[in-house]
Amino acid sequence: MDISIIGSGYVGLVTGACLADVGHSVICVDNDQRKVDALRQGLIPIYEPDLEEVVHRNVSAHRLRFTNSIQEGVDRSQIIFIAVPTPPQPDGSVDLTYLAGVARGIAEVLTEYRVIVDKSTVPVNTGEKVAETIRRYNKANVDFDVVSNPEFLREGCAVADLMNPDRIVIGSNSDRALTLMKKVYEPFMAPIMVTDVNSAELIKHAANSFLALKISYINAISAICEASGADIERVADGIGADKRIGRSFLNAGLGYGGSCFPKDVAAFVAISEQLGLPFSLLKEVQRVNQTQLERFLKKIRDALWILKDKRIAVWGLTFKPDTDDVRSSVAVELVEGLLKEGATVRAYDPKGMDKIVELGLCKGVSLAKSALHAVEGAEALILATEWDEFKRVDFEAARKIMHTPILFDGRNLYDPKTMKELGFRYFGVGRASEG
Ligand code: NAD
Repeated sequence: MDISIIGSGYVGLVTGACLADVGHSVICVDNDQRKVDALRQGLIPIYEPDLEEVVHRNVSAHRLRFTNSIQEGVDRSQIIFIAVPTPPQPDGSVDLTYLAGVARGIAEVLTEYRVIVDKSTVPVNTGEKVAETIRRYNKANVDFDVVSNPEFLREGCAVADLMNPDRIVIGSNSDRALTLMKKVYEPFMAPIMVTDVNSAELIKHAANSFLALKISYINAISAICEASGADIERVADGIGADKRIGRSFLNAGLGYGGSCFPKDVAAFVAISEQLGLPFSLLKEVQRVNQTQLERFLKKIRDALWILKDKRIAVWGLTFKPDTDDVRSSVAVELVEGLLKEGATVRAYDPKGMDKIVELGLCKGVSLAKSALHAVEGAEALILATEWDEFKRVDFEAARKIMHTPILFDGRNLYDPKTMKELGFRYFGVGRASEG
């Protein structure tokens, strides 16, 4: 099928590449000319495992191309996906100006029937607004349908998730659109769940908020573990072995971050308030998340006392491993907190450092060439993102070059006993400190 994707970021580019890979003809549209130029030269603006290979393969096969023209996308595609940002406003509600702009842009060039598919994460009832906007600005009065197809990919394994999703949710109030959408997803061996547009929109916010709730739940228990001498890892294993609960998303740490969970929880809080049904449970999820980082910073202060002029190494800046995405990363918030208190921070991340520079984050941090380079002369090391690379570091070598071997493990990546044997003072989350 002929498909266009408007917005070629983490979601749009991966979606476009994967739809091309199963045989569709895809045009990725973006209004960032530098991004379009880079993609045309074969340069991938984000790091995502396997993405580069899939993009190159499909560009060579002429199934995937890039443009800055919405008109080109609309003219040449039966299906138009929208994957533009839906960032939070200061009050937590969703800023829908990008989406509204694209809806208007589509309307102005729409000349025959198209299915317009919203893949961006949006508040329930947004599809109706998109349809209204298109009707208002389309002078030709063309027939069209608006479908909601929320995206559940995880950065770090986005290609694998897109090729092999748990489910594909299609929210459509039109049989004509639904038939076309089923054809788009025919090559994927995944269950298709058909709903109305409003339910599909709600599924996305409800799913992400539930995952955030699981994280805050285990983090709240980690505080109880610290106060009572229990071990959060054993407790999480014990809870997670129950099939009704499951072990995933029960990893205590620094809290959730990234470009989705904080904004989607805030959005769901705002949506429920607008509907007159304040979701106070989710406000508590947010509070626990904020407290988790504060508790960790306190642990560092308690052990090191005054942070001003202390040399601290930080491993990990991205919001999770296997991505270069540092947007709303808790690791970044942590580094910025340390810098604010006057600490001298040297950080290392396998993939995220370019984006730190590009986005102007962590002003004053020095970026290291390697994990070991980061710890030279450090009075403490903080593990902030659980990259595999950090499991394999030579800790004998690290201890020798550190000023003082103190380890704050913000993701419970290491075994406290082993670290103690290696000569480190160890502080984890929700487990006995110092091993
Ligand atoms: P992103 O910032 O990585 O990409 C968005 C792209 O849209 C950018 O390249 C930007 O230049 C482009 N853009 C903005 N306005 C445009 C316009 N008018 N015309 C053409 N292009 C335009 O964002 P993302 O992470 O891909 O997220 C997109 C949406 O998908 C958001 O609603 C997000 O909540 C949702 N989502 C994200 C993820 C994720 O893991 N990143 C997962 C599921 C859903």
